[in-house]
Amino acid sequence: MEENQSWRLSYFPKPLQDTELLSDLKEGAVYFCGRDFALRPALVMRAGRVPFAWDAPRFARLFMFCMEYFLRYMAVPGRVENVVVIIDLQDISYRHMAIPALMELKEVFTHQNAGRVFCFYVCNMPFLVRALVNVVEAAMTERARQKIRFLSDVSQLREDFALNQLERDLGGCREDPFQLALPDPGKSSCMEFADTARDFLRQHGLEHLLDQTGHVRAKAFAESPEQVDLSPEEVSLHSWKAGLAMESIAIQPCLPPGRPVPGSSRQRIAARGVASPPSSAVAASNSRSLGLAVGFAAGLRGLRIVAKRRASRLAWRGRKGHGRLAGVQLQATAAATEATESEADVVVIGSGLAGLTCAGVLAAAGKSVTVLESHYVPGGAAHTFRARAKGIKGDFCFDSGPSLYGGLSGERTSSPLKHVYQILGEEPEWITYDRWNAFIPEGEANAAIGYEEFVSKLLPRFGGPDAPQQWERLMNRIIPMADAICNGPPPSFVREDLGVAATLARYLTKLKSIPGGPQKLSEPFSQFLEDAKVTDPFIKNWMDMFAFLLQGLPSYGAPTSMMAYMMGDMYKKNTCLDFPKGGNEALVGALVRGLEKHGGQVLLKKHVEEVLVEGGRAAGVRLKDGHVIRAPTVVSNADWQVTKSLIKEGSAPELEDYLKTTWKEYKLLKSFIHLHLGFRGDGLPSGHCEEFPAQWGVFNSWSDLEAPRNAVLVSCPSMLDPDLAPPGHHVVHAYTPATEPWEDWADLDEGSSEYKKKKQEARDFLYSAVAKQVPDLEDRVVLELVGTPRTHRRFLRKPSGTYGLRVQAPEMLPGHKTPLEGFHMCGDSTAPGIGVPAVVMSGHICANNIMSVPEHWQILDKIKDWTTELEI
Ligand SMILES: Cc1cc2nc3c(=O)[nH]c(=O)nc-3n(C[C@H](O)[C@H](O)[C@H](O)COP(=O)(O)OP(=O)(O)OC[C@H]3O[C@@H](n4cnc5c(N)ncnc54)[C@H](O)[C@@H]3O)c2cc1C
Repeated sequence: MEENQSWRLSYFPKPLQDTELLSDLKEGAVYFCGRDFALRPALVMRAGRVPFAWDAPRFARLFMFCMEYFLRYMAVPGRVENVVVIIDLQDISYRHMAIPALMELKEVFTHQNAGRVFCFYVCNMPFLVRALVNVVEAAMTERARQKIRFLSDVSQLREDFALNQLERDLGGCREDPFQLALPDPGKSSCMEFADTARDFLRQHGLEHLLDQTGHVRAKAFAESPEQVDLSPEEVSLHSWKAGLAMESIAIQPCLPPGRPVPGSSRQRIAARGVASPPSSAVAASNSRSLGLAVGFAAGLRGLRIVAKRRASRLAWRGRKGHGRLAGVQLQATAAATEATESEADVVVIGSGLAGLTCAGVLAAAGKSVTVLESHYVPGGAAHTFRARAKGIKGDFCFDSGPSLYGGLSGERTSSPLKHVYQILGEEPEWITYDRWNAFIPEGEANAAIGYEEFVSKLLPRFGGPDAPQQWERLMNRIIPMADAICNGPPPSFVREDLGVAATLARYLTKLKSIPGGPQKLSEPFSQFLEDAKVTDPFIKNWMDMFAFLLQGLPSYGAPTSMMAYMMGDMYKKNTCLDFPKGGNEALVGALVRGLEKHGGQVLLKKHVEEVLVEGGRAAGVRLKDGHVIRAPTVVSNADWQVTKSLIKEGSAPELEDYLKTTWKEYKLLKSFIHLHLGFRGDGLPSGHCEEFPAQWGVFNSWSDLEAPRNAVLVSCPSMLDPDLAPPGHHVVHAYTPATEPWEDWADLDEGSSEYKKKKQEARDFLYSAVAKQVPDLEDRVVLELVGTPRTHRRFLRKPSGTYGLRVQAPEMLPGHKTPLEGFHMCGDSTAPGIGVPAVVMSGHICANNIMSVPEHWQILDKIKDWTTELEI
């Protein structure tokens, strides 16, 4: 006690007033965000907000002031109470100050505040730190792991905090500029505020947010919106309402000095059945945990992974925090509202595969590129999200979109995505596998991809008497076409200006003639089948299914070029399917790494609200939070309707007209229902095998593949990569491929019983498709998330939850240039359309248009020889 007191006197030589620290607190580098679900005060430390001008002691003093404040006003006298600390390491690699400050904090924590921190949450770790953490975490004791939680995703904070307590870039919905709060010591006790909270909820018809003992269920708001299936507006509203109540508890001191309350917060929590470890154990591991966190940060600094720092990025990060202190409401200051500006050569709106491709290729050509993404994860339709099941340690990693990939693992391949990885010098590790399963109206068609099993197993069983001859005829006709496409010039040479003569000239020797002439490429594949005299119902249905899976339309709508390209890959000798180790997160992650390696950046949760037009050309973008990024070139990877909404009326009349009229002629494809399950894998094969292929499709009827609730696709990627689920468990994603009518869901209130009923029906339908291959499914499931077209619309930013435009060959989508100078478009609203290879092509072509021919030439130098003999 005496030692502590003398430390206080030396550390704070004169009495500190909160008003003295006001301006420092306003930076938002350290603040209390409320209490966690177990009512422990939560202190947030944001390294990226520590101004350069601060020295380490200034930062540490602020932090320690908050700790002292906690002890004085927020803890119950006579009890050992703890805080939780959220350490946000975003930007720490280049903010030197944070490291000495953390070191100083470690000293103080070790000697003066041992036992005061229940747990550290370390989040937003830069890539290399994350890699180190994986190694070190394995060596940590269970206790240490409880004390210091390295979060792979900030959304994990939602497990312990209400959304309204966390700022948006920490996974919550708290608006920036935030309201910084220090509890007011003059207010009444936590218990009284809890009563107020209960009254508030009851008055507002929110009783369901109280648990059986009448406590506010903070956890209800900590669940991910995916799980509760609320719109962001609803989440904000709910958490605001309940947050008001929660905050009343959260930001008030448990006790005005000297006033007794019945029991400490830990006792109250224990009474609710929330476990809390003995304080001695907490004390023992407290300093060690911070040491680990500091060690990582310091290690990172040594590695200097981000050596290059742009002024624009600094400007971006240098936002101001704002606050309310000790009952004094500070208005959002001028600095808060005044929009900061930064610059880039190119701004890309959206981090879908097309946007990331475009950005990566441009960065590799030496441009400074910033990608802005609304969502909290990159990847668009290919994003991954994580969820946890009660009582099970570890994340279930769910892919939201694509799961079928080919042509990526081999070195000599014509895959546009592979070429982009070669340009960027980054690539995921590939898992190869051989088969998928199809439950078709005739029976179960489980066969390896490629020619052999199709001919030896499927044709004799399902085909007519001359099916083998028809199949051979088809393949004999398709292979020369596939050869001309796959071994001809790579699509990356394409640019939509005269420079294309130069980039094509590079590949003149590779040009091959297309059997029947180039016009055959854009014809519907049904025409090709007719020309090849393919009449066998099974082969025709199988081809319809193949086309449908690739682009959402059967053979009558699929272009022959796409089918020839895919069949060349799928039916050649020694072919295989590819899956990225780590799921789509790894596929997207490699693109992000490649972009960053070349000096670009992806900023998440940065919703673009307007494309700026000045002097008759694109001049940058304005974000929802008011920030402006100036750039002479702007690319939109967003859906065309979303893009349209970003152009302020009257600012670019020609572009408005172009957006209004060009896409009007296409219909929209339908939407999706999704089911994501986590289930126990006991008794099932341990990995992908003939008895249990990792992917399967269910097709109830061939008569109309586009009909609602006819087809379901199922992917169980943890059969290929067990790390995608906790040990002994699997993840599954089942969905209807663009066959769910939006109109059936458009007008439903998501809180209504009708919506819930429809959702249950959707769930049951998808369940039965998964159960075709997973025995005793109901008993195995530990986690279940159902997505409707409304969910799809929300998370994939697709109006009406659509898959995209329904482009029926020989129709073609528009290209990538627009009438507004400096404004370009890429992604599935532009040619060639939907699907991973297609959108990657579109992103590449869009980038080519922006580069000079010499820059383009240098990019093409990086693509390795892709040609290979196509044998069946
Ligand atoms: C369920 C499903 C399964 C699929 N399966 C396959 C498959 O197996 N094989 C295959 O090849 N293809 C598949 N696809 C298709 C493929 O995934 C998509 O065509 C492709 O990923 C679309 O990429 P994109 O870049 O065009 O656009 P998107 O992925 O839609 O990306 C657009 C991005 O822009 C962002 N954005 C929008 N507006 C703004 C704004 N104002 N500010 C900032 N950001 C904004 C969005 O949040 C989004 O991240 C599947 C798709 C789905 C949905």
